[in-house]
Amino acid sequence: MSELVGEAKAELKQASKEVKESENVAEKYSAMTVSKNSEMNMGDLTTVLSAVPTHKPVKKQIQFVEDKQEFSRFPTKTGRRSLSRSISQSSTDSYSSAASGTDSSDDETSPRDKTQVNVKGSSDFCVKNIKQAEFGRREIEIAEQDMSALISLRKRAQSEKPLAGAKIVGCTHITAQTAVLIETLVALGAQCRWTACNIYSTQNEVAAALAESGVAVFAWKGESEDDFWWCIDHCVNTEGWQPNMILDDGGDLTHWMYKKYPNVFKKIRGIVEESVTGVHRLYQLSKAGKLCVPAMNVNDSVTKQKFDNLYCCRESILDGLKRTTDVMFGGKQVVVCGYGEVGKGCCAALKALGAIVYITEIDPICALQACMDGFRVVKLCEIIRHVDVIITCTGNKNVVTRDQLDRMKNGSIVCNMGHSNTEIDVASLRTPELTWERVRSQVDHVIWPDGKRVILLAEGRLLNLSCSTVPTFVLSITATTQTFYSASGKCSHPFSLIPKYFFFPLINLHTIPHSDKVFCKINSEILHVHKYSHPLLL
Ligand code: NAD
Repeated sequence: MSELVGEAKAELKQASKEVKESENVAEKYSAMTVSKNSEMNMGDLTTVLSAVPTHKPVKKQIQFVEDKQEFSRFPTKTGRRSLSRSISQSSTDSYSSAASGTDSSDDETSPRDKTQVNVKGSSDFCVKNIKQAEFGRREIEIAEQDMSALISLRKRAQSEKPLAGAKIVGCTHITAQTAVLIETLVALGAQCRWTACNIYSTQNEVAAALAESGVAVFAWKGESEDDFWWCIDHCVNTEGWQPNMILDDGGDLTHWMYKKYPNVFKKIRGIVEESVTGVHRLYQLSKAGKLCVPAMNVNDSVTKQKFDNLYCCRESILDGLKRTTDVMFGGKQVVVCGYGEVGKGCCAALKALGAIVYITEIDPICALQACMDGFRVVKLCEIIRHVDVIITCTGNKNVVTRDQLDRMKNGSIVCNMGHSNTEIDVASLRTPELTWERVRSQVDHVIWPDGKRVILLAEGRLLNLSCSTVPTFVLSITATTQTFYSASGKCSHPFSLIPKYFFFPLINLHTIPHSDKVFCKINSEILHVHKYSHPLLL
């Protein structure tokens, strides 16, 4: 095990090297012109289109594909741009929507040293305290109320069991929302073993509830790095269990299996990867000619980009800022760097509360959109001295530099909503002349020699995932996407990105009742035109 942990560390080192290279890509990207950018997108599109075979109706009981497929698509625009995120970060970033109510527990005994048994007499799990199961069940039930699409999928497909035969190993945040996803996969016929993709994000009571209901879950809040790999290993490796599908968030599970259990890995029929980091790692494997398994890119799906990125951020930006700073937004001057999906969400929320919002952009199309939406597009250097809040949402690096931070006024707030913690040059603030004062959890005052204070949130990491909750309904859309991808993994057309119309019924499951009929009509026509069917579309 220690040898493997060593290997994993070495791999992370290698990954950081790759990330550095990728950062150069990100740098280059920042200098790109729009025409170049559009060229890249057209290239991506062509690859996607040529990669998507004609969809033939498939049997409801899905057939596993025996042919091995190369995952050869280049990462999309966002994928490329977000490469600067540290690969190991996904497992160590805090994600405190999960922090809601989870205790760090008075009991200091490591779960690994405890013997616990669930009501069915099974001890095939490792959680903080199985006795918290009832409390966790209530958390899951609350999440279910806003995840009715998954519940409806359960009802629709329960008798068909389209996931019968699927043995899924999962590595995601273990929260009430992902519990609803896991239990949906089980209801559709899959067998699941699950572990956490982040050492801080597990809701202990939710993990207990899952264990009590019979899911083999290995996770608790505050795992050590060694615990983290131990949990992954126990999730994958147990007698009489041969997983055939991976549902990953960040790529740690995938890479552990690839390294430690190559023979099992080869037999995997599909990898469903949610995060940009994981997609990047898969891409690296593919580039090296080592990816022999179909992989599905949830991150770049229309249902993630257009919902998670836009609406999740619109809902959670204010929450993150309020919880950490108690700031009032009315009349505040805020600059948002980047007017993509995330930036648009943040700006809409800030504008609604009466903030005066400025935008910086390097893409003239997005800049023009910002103008048309009534925002002033500026250069950061023009207004840096006057603004009260800076929010980065670009996926690029060094968007706010030390020089700019030096020029900010006393009391200004700096935070990041993009994937990478290098959008703000936080490293440059760790110098002897500046004093850091931790004033609250995730809130630092950085103090200049003349007494000026800049308030830095979450050390430049994703603000909403570090300091606020994220809305269940949006997670439901992403989770339903993951369920669709999981079911598709067994279809006869392995693809890394699937076309937009595929998702219409999925969105349909989330639409409000009075719109339902209209959307259904459009759906059936489009699906008919494309001769498309899916095991979950009953
Ligand atoms: P996007 O590609 O739609 O938008 C990014 C925008 O930033 C682009 O318009 C680009 O031109 C602009 N940009 C790039 N470099 C810039 C610079 N130096 N100065 C000003 N503008 C610049 O991407 P998106 O979907 O908005 O995602 C942005 C980031 O947020 C990504 O890293 C993504 O992974 C992350 N993300 C965060 C959350 C969250 O919950 N916080 C959710 C989804 C995505």
